[in-house]
Amino acid sequence: MGEGGAAGRHTTTAERTRRLKAQAFGLGFDLAGITTLGPPATRAAFDAWLEAGYHGGMAYLADEGAELRRDTHRPHVGATHAIVLATQYGGREPSGPVARYARGDDYHELLRERTRGLHHWLAAELGRPIDARPYVDSGPILERDLAQRAGLGWFGKNTMLINPKAGSFFFLSSLFVVLGPDIALDVDDPFAADRCGSCTRCLDACPTQAFTGPRVLDATQCISYLTIELRGAIPEPLREKIGGLLYGCDICQEVCPWNVSFTTSLREEAFRPRDMLLDAGSREGTRALAREILMMEPADYAAAFKGSAIKRAKLWMLKRNACVVLGNVGTAEDLAVLEAMLADEDVIVREHAAWATVRLETDRAS
Ligand code: SF4
Ligand code: SF4
Repeated sequence: MGEGGAAGRHTTTAERTRRLKAQAFGLGFDLAGITTLGPPATRAAFDAWLEAGYHGGMAYLADEGAELRRDTHRPHVGATHAIVLATQYGGREPSGPVARYARGDDYHELLRERTRGLHHWLAAELGRPIDARPYVDSGPILERDLAQRAGLGWFGKNTMLINPKAGSFFFLSSLFVVLGPDIALDVDDPFAADRCGSCTRCLDACPTQAFTGPRVLDATQCISYLTIELRGAIPEPLREKIGGLLYGCDICQEVCPWNVSFTTSLREEAFRPRDMLLDAGSREGTRALAREILMMEPADYAAAFKGSAIKRAKLWMLKRNACVVLGNVGTAEDLAVLEAMLADEDVIVREHAAWATVRLETDRAS
């Protein structure tokens, strides 16, 4: 290729690509694929989804970010390729009130550092600086579309990207790189197959019926949105359906046969559940966690969730969610803490506490 200098510059495209992926696996990524850039295959579906208002209050998806998402050339000008990386987080721990992705340390910084590590390796390998930018679930990119294009899996009917050997419990990150004409990488074929077949388990299992059809999620009805993204009161008709879910929901992934088949132990120490979440899987554990959150002062919240993805929800939001959880799975023993919340400084927490109190008292009376 006439790229003389360090060892990596003498190599063939195939060998360079193989070494790059081997390095990604060495850094701790579980899957790696390479793609060129361009308009996403799901662009029209994305526009229709926005048009329908299914993004709810996530305005950042609809404003200028939408235009950037319509072509992966746009977020990092000049980029020619994306190296798409996946890191598993599912683990074998039982279901619980907190979604699996948020039980351990926040993945953003860890994966950003790791993705930067791949950038540094590539520059060293090529013996020259490489213009590149890491994205970890934060840039204006339709990441699942990009991953499908890089051959990592297909879009399940639950809208998640599913890999036939790893399921769907993984974080996606990507390194956008500007490669000159003298530096080639082998790109992967898009994952063309749809392996959902006639299965509809995810659609059937959703407690709020948030899917309007296969691969179309009305986020405004989804428990993940309601408990993590919604900055307001949870609509009353949906509260009962939230059950014991305090933060996020994994149901449409947990029922998926591709996750049932490929569940593996967590490799990443940082993603192991925090101590306070270890026993939260049982009904008693869920109630105890909800009570603990309701009794938290801001300093307790900051200490308990330091470095955790859970902090995307402010304390008042967690308290709102905890009221709903106790209203659904609590007992008369939880009334005292709920009644204390009737005087909370936040009006939304007060209203949710009142809702939960009435529910528990009604149960007790019947
Ligand atoms: S995350 Fe839960 S609420 Fe949301 S679509 Fe999946 S099953 Fe339904
Ligand atoms: S549960 Fe079935 S339909 Fe849903 S994503 Fe998994 S395989 Fe596809």
